[in-house]
Amino acid sequence: MAEYIEREQAIKCAEKSYKMWNLTMAAAEGAREINKCYKMQEICKAIGETFKIVPAADVAPVVHGHWVYGEFDIPHCSECGNDVMPNMISPYCPNCGAKMDEEETT
Ligand SMILES: [Zn+2]
Repeated sequence: MAEYIEREQAIKCAEKSYKMWNLTMAAAEGAREINKCYKMQEICKAIGETFKIVPAADVAPVVHGHWVYGEFDIPHCSECGNDVMPNMISPYCPNCGAKMDEEETT
């Protein structure tokens, strides 16, 4: 099963790795070790640049919802308002497909 990640987060990870090598460099001894850190940073930069140009996946964003218990304890979807029978409660709304994992706020 494919998993999808957010471009912005991926770029941030590359930037974080780049910064981590600054710390390693600060503790490095000798030109050879320092050089290695620079090289690793170049790689982090290249990875970050690659993340910027990877084509976006054709993925619909997940809509999150929750079951709202209204009149006579008939649950309905917080997103589309669709009523379901209490024994039809499911992890996804059968009408709009919302993922029912949202924290109830009411
Ligand atoms: Zn719904």
